[in-house]
Amino acid sequence: RAKETGKARCVVYSPRQNGPSEHDISLEAAMFQAVREGEFMLHYQPIVDARTREIEGFETLMRWKHPTLGMVSPARFIPIAETNGLINLLGAWALKAACVQLKQFQEVAKRPLYISVNISPRQFRNDKFLDVLDDAITYSGLSGEHLVLEITEGTLMIDPAHAETILGKMAERRARIAIDDFGTGYSSLAYLKRFPISVLKIDRAFIRDLPGSQKDGAICNAVLDLARHLSLSVVAEGVETEEQLAYMRERGCQYIQGYLTGKPMAANVAIAALNERRYKDVLGEDVLRDDVL
Ligand code: C2E
Ligand code: MG
Ligand code: MG
Ligand code: MG
Repeated sequence: RAKETGKARCVVYSPRQNGPSEHDISLEAAMFQAVREGEFMLHYQPIVDARTREIEGFETLMRWKHPTLGMVSPARFIPIAETNGLINLLGAWALKAACVQLKQFQEVAKRPLYISVNISPRQFRNDKFLDVLDDAITYSGLSGEHLVLEITEGTLMIDPAHAETILGKMAERRARIAIDDFGTGYSSLAYLKRFPISVLKIDRAFIRDLPGSQKDGAICNAVLDLARHLSLSVVAEGVETEEQLAYMRERGCQYIQGYLTGKPMAANVAIAALNERRYKDVLGEDVLRDDVL
């Protein structure tokens, strides 16, 4: 009997409970290779005026085009880069490349668009972060006021005193701060009073079930109210339907970002969109795979 059990016993391997999985480790090895091979690139998703649908700015979203795996989702590789520190290198590159790209977008559009760049917690806390920011601004010749840095509530709460210093320095450069995925993190609203924040990005989780969900509607209304009283602008993320857009617009949301008004797209496609001033046809990328390896 014992022999039977011994043979038949199944080894339960649950990688996600104990650090990185084998998949993550091979993905990690592939990432270092990818940096050398130049497989990372940036896509740009329009952020549009909720009324006119004119493009006001773009969010920079990192992409990894692996030669055999295809497009790897940042939801897979950013957490790995955050753990091994590669995010500092990738993030610095993304910030600089995005600022340079925005200059070109502005020349095409002949109006002052802005670029919104995601900053991870580790990047934000890195000693070199302000140097990286200054380098991107100086090198590109971009005016700081056309730069928005997206951070999460979590990034602010890890070390609020440090965050206050960094945000103050960003304000000196006239860069604006957006709270990404607003409402999904662990934080108190007190930080809206303490820190110089300009934009709230309502997470897709609160938009997805609109207009049907009363609870999500109540949350979106409360955020819009709060933002109005604090003079913050609001971007609704993940807007996929006309009904969702109408719901948010009617309640005073100024800016929309989602597949409805433009998927993330390569720079040349973004330029075509700017030439049309609006972006209606879905020429953006297909859904990214996050099931690779
Ligand atoms: P995020 O900053 O909240 O970006 C928004 C995500 O929602 C993007 O996913 C975007 O493609 C997706 N999205 C936009 N509109 C819609 C929609 O209508 N429907 C749906 N279903 N999704 C929509 P993506 O590109 O996969 O990026 C995932 C996350 O990876 C980002 O979330 C951000 O946290 C992180 N990320 C991406 N690029 C960078 C980067 O350059 N640096 C850092 N630190 N993080 C990045
Ligand atoms: Mg973002
Ligand atoms: Mg977001
Ligand atoms: Mg998000």
